Amino acid sequence: MADAKTDKSGSAESSAQKSVQKPDAEWRQELTPQQYRVLREKGTEPPFTGKYWNEHADGVYRCAACGNPLFDAATKFESGTGWPSFFQPIEEGHVGTEEDRSLFMRRTEVHCAKCGGHLGHLFDDGPKPTGLRYCINSASLDLDKEVK
Ligand code: FE
Repeated sequence: MADAKTDKSGSAESSAQKSVQKPDAEWRQELTPQQYRVLREKGTEPPFTGKYWNEHADGVYRCAACGNPLFDAATKFESGTGWPSFFQPIEEGHVGTEEDRSLFMRRTEVHCAKCGGHLGHLFDDGPKPTGLRYCINSASLDLDKEVK
């Protein structure tokens, strides 16, 4: 309800998104326990355990909670970390970042701009052309292979 005035039609902000907000009980019902732990409680899956760290198919990675397109498979790269890694989001405004000072570290947290679901963290040791590494939990993602 706080977002009532974000819809400015005619502006250049095509990336502005309607936010998805649900009561915690609904997320708990819709998501698997693992998805809930990562997306809603900012958990991290153990490396080399998720379903996408070694995935090479084309398509679009969507938010597992709300379906928001987050990353194009073409921007996925071999980071060696055991987590799916991307060098840029699919579109500006689809992926949000925030400073994370938990666990005695200073990191940049990455979340879905639409539903706020936690995705992973952002580091600056990625490959060209951006030099960025979006280190994402498989549990937060849903690969849509139909989209080209
Ligand atoms: Fe989402």
